[in-house]
Amino acid sequence: MVLQSPELRSLDTCLRSLKARWQEYRDQGNFEHFVEFTLALDNLTEHLNRLKLPGLLRQCEGLENAALALFGDESSHPVSARDAAALEHQVDALLHTIETAQAASAGAEEDQRRRTASSSHAEAEWAKPRSIWLIAGERHAWVPGLVEQLGFFGFRVFRFGWSDPAPDAASPLVALCIPPADGYAAAALQSIERLRSEHPTSQLFCLAVPKSLEVTVALLRAGADVTIQAEQETVTVLGRLLDLLQTREQDPYRVLVVEDSPTAVAMIQRSLSQHGIDSHPIDNPQLLLSAVEQYRPDLVLMDMYMPHCTGVEATRVLRQLTDYQSLPVVYLSSETDMGMQVEALRLGGDQFLTKPCNPVLLAAVVKTKIERYREMQRHSQHDSLTGLLNHSAAKGRLNQLVQSLQGAPEPLCVAMLDIDHFKSVNDTYGHPVGDQVIRSLAWLLKGRLRASDIIGRYGGEEFIVALRSAGLREAESVLDTIRADFATLPHAHAGGTLRATFSAGLASFPQWGTGNDLTHAADEALLEAKRQGRNRIVLARSRKADQ
Ligand code: GH3
Ligand code: MG
Ligand code: MG
Ligand code: MG
Repeated sequence: MVLQSPELRSLDTCLRSLKARWQEYRDQGNFEHFVEFTLALDNLTEHLNRLKLPGLLRQCEGLENAALALFGDESSHPVSARDAAALEHQVDALLHTIETAQAASAGAEEDQRRRTASSSHAEAEWAKPRSIWLIAGERHAWVPGLVEQLGFFGFRVFRFGWSDPAPDAASPLVALCIPPADGYAAAALQSIERLRSEHPTSQLFCLAVPKSLEVTVALLRAGADVTIQAEQETVTVLGRLLDLLQTREQDPYRVLVVEDSPTAVAMIQRSLSQHGIDSHPIDNPQLLLSAVEQYRPDLVLMDMYMPHCTGVEATRVLRQLTDYQSLPVVYLSSETDMGMQVEALRLGGDQFLTKPCNPVLLAAVVKTKIERYREMQRHSQHDSLTGLLNHSAAKGRLNQLVQSLQGAPEPLCVAMLDIDHFKSVNDTYGHPVGDQVIRSLAWLLKGRLRASDIIGRYGGEEFIVALRSAGLREAESVLDTIRADFATLPHAHAGGTLRATFSAGLASFPQWGTGNDLTHAADEALLEAKRQGRNRIVLARSRKADQ
C-alpha cells in the first residue's frame, strides 16, 4: 500500500513519541511515565486503525494489551526486569515491522513518481495505482471476470497460484484469496498466515468462505480481515474494495465536557487532547443547549453533581430534543452507589465512569462510543444501494463546500449524470439488473474520482459529482474518460451481457456562485446532452452567451 506523505509524516510523529516515552520509562521507571507510554501506544494503535493497516494494527494492539496488563498503580512500578525486557522486545519488533513497511512504501511512492514524472501532478492524482493480488488457481472460473472487472475500476491485478511464491513487489492494497479445490485446508491457511506476516499493511480478503464457524474462525486467526461467503458473489468484493479507497477525511472527534470542577476539566481535557480529541468545557448545565447547538459534539461527558441541576436531569432534557436523542452521554462521577448508577443509565445515559478515571479507559470509552455514533450518522447520510452520499447529504456537502470557497481562488466543477434510456434496461432485463447497472456506475465514480471529491446518488439513476480544484477542461476530460469506459463496461444479465451509457452536464464555480445555481446549470446542460443524442458531456452555457 502506498502511504501518502502527510500520513507517513504523522505516523513518524507517533513512532518517535512511542520510542521517547518508552525510553523515559526505562530511565525513570515510575507510574507516570508508564501512563505516558501506554497513551503513546494507544495513539499509534489509533493511527494505524485510521490508515487501515490491519496487520500492523494487530501487532500494536497485542503490545498495548501486554502493557495494560502491567498497568497497575504507583506501587507496581518499575515492573520487573523480566516484564520490562519482554515489553521492550515487543516494542522493538513493532517498530521494526512498521519501519520496514514504511521503507517499502516510500520506495513504491518514489517509483510511482518516476513513472508519472512526464505527466502532470494532477493526472497522477486522478489515477493512483491500486494493486490487487489475486491468489487463485489459474483456471478458476472467477478469475477472468474478476480481473476484467477490477481493471475497469482502476485496479491493477496480479494473479498467482496457491503454491506459487508471492511476488517480490511492494505490498498490495488487498490480497484476494479464492480457495483451492479442497477449500481452506491447512496448506491454504498457512499461505494466508505467511501473507499476513509478510504484508502487514495489506488487507486480506477471503472469498467463497463456507458458512461455518470453524472455517471462519480459522481464517480470522490466520489473519484474514474480511471473509465473504460463498453465495455472495464477486459483486460484494468490488463494493468492499472501493470502500477501502474512501479514506474519509475525518473531522477531529468533539467532546462537550459538562463539569463544574476546574481540576476535573483540566485532567479530562489533557487526556482527550493526547488522543487528538477536541473538547469544549462548560461549567454550568444552563449553557448545555446552546453549547450542543454551536459546538456540535459527538459525545457529552456529564458530571453528576453541578449547580442548578444534576447531570441526569440535564441528560433527560437533551433526550427531549430529536436532534440529540442518540448523542452519546457518558457520566463522570465519584458516585459509587450501584442503584444510583443504574437509575442514571435508565434515564438516558450511555455509560458511567467513576472519577478520577484512568486516562486510557476514558479515551477508549470516548473513542469507541464516538466511532459507533459517527457510523450511525454515516448510515443516515448514505444511499443503501450504492453506498454513495444520498440526495440531501450530497446537496448539503456541496453547499458547505461552495460556501467555504467564497472568495478563495480554488476552482470547482459540478456535474449531473443520468443513465441513458434506463427505463428500457429495467423493462428488458428486470429491476435487479437495472440496480446492478446503477451500482456499477457508482463504483466507477468511486474508483476513479478522488477522496476529496463529492459523489452522490441524486435520484434513481441520476448522480451528482463535485470535483475539487478542477477547472472545466480538466473536469470534462476526467468525466469523458469515465463516460467512454462506462460505455464499454459489460453488465451481466441472465442471457449474457448488456452495455449502458450516461449523459452529463457540467457547470463550474465561480461562474455559478451557489450550490443551487451550480446544480441547476449542470441539470440544464444534462438536458441539452440528452437532446443532442445522449452518451456525451455538455458544458453549461454561461448566461452572457445566451443573450
Ligand atoms: P433518459 O435517457 O432520457 O434518461 O431515459 P430514461 O429511461 O433513463 O429516463 P426516465 O427518467 O424516464 O427513467 C428512469 C427510470 O429509472 C425509471 C425508474 O423506474 C428507474 N429507476 C429509478 N430508480 C431505480 C432504482 O433504484 N433501480 C432500478 N432498477 N430502476 C430505477
Ligand atoms: Mg460536580
Ligand atoms: Mg435516464
Ligand atoms: Mg433520470
